[in-house]
Amino acid sequence: MVKETKFYDVLGVAPDATDAQLKSAYRKGALRHHPDKNPSADAAEKFKEISHAYETLSEPQKRQLYDNYGEAGLEQGGGMGGGGGMAAEDLFAQFFGGGGGGGGGFGGMFGGGGRDTGPKKARTINHQHKVSLEDIYRGKVSKLALQKSVICPKCEGRGGKEGAVKTCAGCNGQGMKTMMRQMGPMIQRFQTVCPDCNGEGEQIREKDKCKQCHGKKTIIERKVLHVHVDRGVQPGTKIDFRGEGDQMPGVEPGDVQFEIDQKPHPRFQRKGDDLFYHAKIDLLTALAGGAIYIEHLDERWLTVEILPGEVISPGEIKVIRGQGMPSYRHHDFGNLYVQFDVEFPDKLFGPKDAEGNPTTINDRQIKALESVLPPRKPQAIPPPDAMTEDYQLETVESGREAGRANMGNGMEDDEDEMHAGGERVQCASQ
Ligand SMILES: [Zn+2]
Ligand SMILES: [Zn+2]
Repeated sequence: MVKETKFYDVLGVAPDATDAQLKSAYRKGALRHHPDKNPSADAAEKFKEISHAYETLSEPQKRQLYDNYGEAGLEQGGGMGGGGGMAAEDLFAQFFGGGGGGGGGFGGMFGGGGRDTGPKKARTINHQHKVSLEDIYRGKVSKLALQKSVICPKCEGRGGKEGAVKTCAGCNGQGMKTMMRQMGPMIQRFQTVCPDCNGEGEQIREKDKCKQCHGKKTIIERKVLHVHVDRGVQPGTKIDFRGEGDQMPGVEPGDVQFEIDQKPHPRFQRKGDDLFYHAKIDLLTALAGGAIYIEHLDERWLTVEILPGEVISPGEIKVIRGQGMPSYRHHDFGNLYVQFDVEFPDKLFGPKDAEGNPTTINDRQIKALESVLPPRKPQAIPPPDAMTEDYQLETVESGREAGRANMGNGMEDDEDEMHAGGERVQCASQ
């Protein structure tokens, strides 16, 4: 008894269908539901299901796993040469030639999937290479060590002494065996991995096994790869080392692929070639000038002058041109955008009294402020013939009341985040 029949049901065949019946069922179903012929969403889904079912059942090893353990068995099984599921369109193209959709060429483009399509290739090893913004700014070469399988140098991948490796008698070197099983009145034929050789197709006597690889044909080797992190490289860039992956006898060596992943930076955010920096300045500097110092990514410090009377508003963005990231493979730089966070004082005080305590701000100081700041807006004119009542502002208590006071008035912590959206940057930088 098979464990599940879903894949057979999708194709509309019985669980004891022959390869030819499976093939014909797939052919009919795939043609009927191919997205080019049948544009409905249901058909697209069905097309995928049919392809997946056929892909599984047409591989003897996979079919056996499915029959014995159902779909769960396929997820755990697989192992070497599993081929990792080919896309529905690729399967279709392989079957009908040239591809039903706009896609052209097929053949040779899938790795382990098809049995007749050129040499198999070991899987690609993917690795995320995390790099600091400093390293991307300056460029560097990372040395990364990798554990990989290589063909055993002692036996050259045979697994034993020359002549000691025998074709498995149990399966004639096929690695698979046809077995019979009684199912009620029926005899079912099915294929199974040869138990004598574990699907290897060959056997080596224990004493003839290679001493270095113990008959496994490969050994694990440590290899150091030099990954060039180019100046200004963008996150997501992939760097390939062809043929540097695992080696297996009779299989093309796999590739190694590194993907550049940029670590978050404590001071800068990056967008394309531009850098964004958040500067906290006090109100006095914002109004009367001063300097800020920005530690750059290459140990330089930028001194940035704020001119007296220039006036920096809270949230304002200014630009320092050419101080962003180097552009990848070009000889220029992006910009450094600086957004200012102006810290207002809690209170203004007058001169200290005899005991050294601050006094309330006095008229002379207020006059001085009035002499440099724009005049008050005329908002205190009472409405005509109205009854006005006097009120005073109180401080909002922290905790629950502060949470309530922030609700819905747009004053949530928006300002902490630098919205580096292009438009806003352009609007603000004259
Ligand atoms: Zn060996
Ligand atoms: Zn065998």
